[in-house]
Amino acid sequence: MTTFQNQVRPGIDRIQPYVPGLTDDELRRRYGLKRVIKLNANENALGPSPLALEAIQRELGQLHHYPDGGSQFLRDEIAGFHSVDASQVLVGNGSDDIIKLISETFLNPGDEVVVPAPSFSQYQFGAFIMQAQVKEVPLGPGFEYDVKALAEAVTPRTKLLYLCSPNNPTGTYLRHSDALWLLRQLPEHVIVVVDLAYNDFTERRDRVVDNAELLSDPRVVALHTFSKMYGLAGLRVGYGLASADLWGYVHRVREPFNVNRVAQRAAAAALKDSAHVEASRQLVQASREQFSRFADVEGLVAIPTEANFVLLRTGDGVETTRRLMERGVMVRAGFAGLAEYVRITFGTLEENEFCLNELGSVLKEFASV
Ligand SMILES: *Cc1c(COP(=O)(O)O)cnc(C)c1O
Repeated sequence: MTTFQNQVRPGIDRIQPYVPGLTDDELRRRYGLKRVIKLNANENALGPSPLALEAIQRELGQLHHYPDGGSQFLRDEIAGFHSVDASQVLVGNGSDDIIKLISETFLNPGDEVVVPAPSFSQYQFGAFIMQAQVKEVPLGPGFEYDVKALAEAVTPRTKLLYLCSPNNPTGTYLRHSDALWLLRQLPEHVIVVVDLAYNDFTERRDRVVDNAELLSDPRVVALHTFSKMYGLAGLRVGYGLASADLWGYVHRVREPFNVNRVAQRAAAAALKDSAHVEASRQLVQASREQFSRFADVEGLVAIPTEANFVLLRTGDGVETTRRLMERGVMVRAGFAGLAEYVRITFGTLEENEFCLNELGSVLKEFASV
C-alpha cells in the first residue's frame, strides 16, 4: 500500500483532524428522539438577523456573478460602525479564515505562538500548519487571565500572542487595563491578536475593547465574527481590525474571493440590525440568571460567564454530554484540562428549561451510584 508519510510537510501529522459531533439529524435517528436542541456551538438561539435574511433574498438573483473580491461595501459598513478607515478592515470566510491567514503571513517553522489555555483551538491549528511552536499559558485558578504569565512566556522567537475575551470555553473576560499593561511589557515584534467573538455579549465596563487607543498600537489585531451575536455562523463571515500596513501583507495570502456575495450582503445588513442584537443580548442575560439559579439549587460550580454559554462542573464532562445527548440535548465537553466540565450554549428560555430539566435528571443518576 502506498503511503504519503514521507511526502507530507513536517508537522502535518501533529494536527488532529477536526471531528465534528453528530448532527442533530443523526442524533434524532440514533436515539429515536422527537426533539433535539443544539446547545453545543455557541450559536444564536434567536436565529439569523431578520434584516440579514432580507438582504440574502435580494442577493440570490446575482449568484452567477463573482463576489466583490475586496468586500468593499461590507468593509465600508464595518469601518463606519467602528469609526476606522476601510483600509484597517479585512474580511474573512469566518474569523477562522483570518486566523489561518495571519498564521500563513507571519509564522516561520520554529517561531513561537503564545496562547492562553484553555482557549479556542484554532489558534493552535494556525501554528501547527506553519510548523510553529505553541506555548500554552494556563489561565488562573478561576480561569481569569494571568497577563503576567503571558508576558513571561514571550521570547525573542514569539511572533503571535492570542487573547480571547470573553474566552471560549470559560466565559471569563480580559480587563482593558490588563490588555494595556500586557502591551507595555511586550517587545515590538509580537503581534497581539485579540479575539472578540463574544465581546458583544458583555457590558462589563472594564472589559477589553478595540477602541482607538488599542487599535493605534501597530501590533494589535482585533477579530470579530458574524457567527455568534449576528446569528450567521452558517454563512461564514468574520473580520479583523488592524493597521493598513499589516493587512497589506495578509491580503497577499488571501484567496481573491474569500467571502461570498450572500455573506457580504447579509453581514452588512446584520450590522444595522440593532433590534436583533438587543433581543439577543437580553436573552443571554436572562439565560445567565436561569443557569445561575439552577447551579445554586444543585450546588454546582458555574464559572461566571460574560459570553452566551456557561461552563458547569458536573464531575465527568464527557459522560454528562453523552447522557444529555441520549435525551436530545447537545452540549460540549472534552476540552483539554476541563475533564470535569461541560460547556452549554444558552438557548431560548424554553430550551434552557428543557436542558436544565434533563441535566437535573442526569445529576440524580450520578448521585445514585
Ligand atoms: C466561534 C468563535 C469564533 C468565530 O469563528 P468563525 O470562523 O467566525 O465562525 C472565533 N473565535 C472564537 C473564540 C469563537 O469561539
